[in-house]
Amino acid sequence: MRKRAPTFNRSPIMSVRVRFAPSPTGYLHIGGVRTALYSWLWARKHGGEFVLRIEDTDAARSTQEAVDVILESMRWLGLDWDEGPEVGGPHAPYFQTEREALYAEWAEKLIASGHAYRCWATKEEIQAQREAYEQGRGGKKGFKFRSPWRDRTDGDPSQPHVVRFKAPREGKTGWTDLVYGDVAYPNKEQQDFVLIRENGLPLYNFGCFVDDLTMGITLVTRGDDHLVNTPMQLMLYDAVGAERPQFAHLPMVLDASGKKLSKRSPGVGVAVLDYRDGGYLPAGVLNYLARLGWSHGDEELFTLEELIAKFDWKGVGKTGSRWDKKKLAHVQGHHLRSQDDATLAKLVTPFLAERGVEVAADDARLVNAIAPVKLRATTLIDLAEGLDYLFRPDAEIAPENDKAAKHLKPATAPYLEKVLEVVRATEPFTAEALAGPIESWVEAEELKMGKVAQPVRVAITGRTRSPGLFETLELVGKEASIARLEQALERARAAE
Ligand code: GLU
Repeated sequence: MRKRAPTFNRSPIMSVRVRFAPSPTGYLHIGGVRTALYSWLWARKHGGEFVLRIEDTDAARSTQEAVDVILESMRWLGLDWDEGPEVGGPHAPYFQTEREALYAEWAEKLIASGHAYRCWATKEEIQAQREAYEQGRGGKKGFKFRSPWRDRTDGDPSQPHVVRFKAPREGKTGWTDLVYGDVAYPNKEQQDFVLIRENGLPLYNFGCFVDDLTMGITLVTRGDDHLVNTPMQLMLYDAVGAERPQFAHLPMVLDASGKKLSKRSPGVGVAVLDYRDGGYLPAGVLNYLARLGWSHGDEELFTLEELIAKFDWKGVGKTGSRWDKKKLAHVQGHHLRSQDDATLAKLVTPFLAERGVEVAADDARLVNAIAPVKLRATTLIDLAEGLDYLFRPDAEIAPENDKAAKHLKPATAPYLEKVLEVVRATEPFTAEALAGPIESWVEAEELKMGKVAQPVRVAITGRTRSPGLFETLELVGKEASIARLEQALERARAAE
């Protein structure tokens, strides 16, 4: 394994090195990604490095599939990593299961300096001590194992054992968190926690410490569920005489009922790739996530460049933020409409293909149709829904549901007839050229435009919502409009 001299005593001007250290045990959680985003923004703002490290020591729960999902999610969001899987880097490998020798080496150093020891205590011994503790205190929790091996050196290293940290029992361990401010835990609350398991793999706190130290991480960001782990990691930095990194713990993302956002949270996708598949744009998701827990005055909408320039830890709140679907839709819709039409045409084609419509991204009809349709769209799926009727064969256009079908009835047949007549006669076939004769007829007949427009809209799109009627007719084109109106007219006449 490639090794590097440990970085002690970093100089204060050393560049920012942050990391995201997910465990590959499932989908990538959208709340976890917010932590990654804040780190990434911080690195980009300071021209520092963003490291991706895979914490896969939980062999029973880690899978290659989950690693692939993490990488794919990060790539889709555009949160690129300077070091990590696939890109490599000076501290490779970036998978904890491939760094075993390094953990063993650091455990040996700690044993040699008297800060750790081998422990041969059996499960039964630990259990017996626990029971005695709980009986003596009427079932009270808070048991801490006191290993008889803390001060013994006569065990046999060839026999199965763990390595434990010799945790200080007096005083307290604290730090100034970039989000939580001053935090401290009494040392008497710690036990001699395990560094290396019997199988040679490190426990989370030790693996994390060794990696953050040897990778030269200057700021550790993670969820506040890890606050209790930080004193253990700090004790390790102190034991080896290394400079501590800074820490920023982020409050949890909550669902509408105030519970931690989870798979069970109603109506919220927690897996990043659900947003990709749901037609969201990375820019929309990242803007929303950034604002979920961070504020910059009352600004709501940010481009990625603006987020990089404006993000700071001062703006990160200490309380959990609630997921707000409406706000997400608002932010996402804004970013969708901010894209130029050619870009949206490229992005929407896979969603059109999913609906059975194959159209080239540079098809002029597609590109020209984006501008009016995007005004009413939030996601790429909305956009695809608003576009697909343009490219379907005329014979496939039928009312999409009962509500739409109700507009095609004998009473509306005369409207369809009149519009069909105008459509046949209009040349060039533009929205303005169509508007004149249809509007003056509506006026002369003392009708309402909406009453005439709905059956025509259903006739040419199959649905009750679309951009302006004349624009839609122009986009659909003369020939297709005639075919669709003729077909709808038949339906209207035949309807009960
Ligand atoms: N693997 C840990 C997790 O996914 C990382 C925690 C940390 O960033 O230190 O929760």
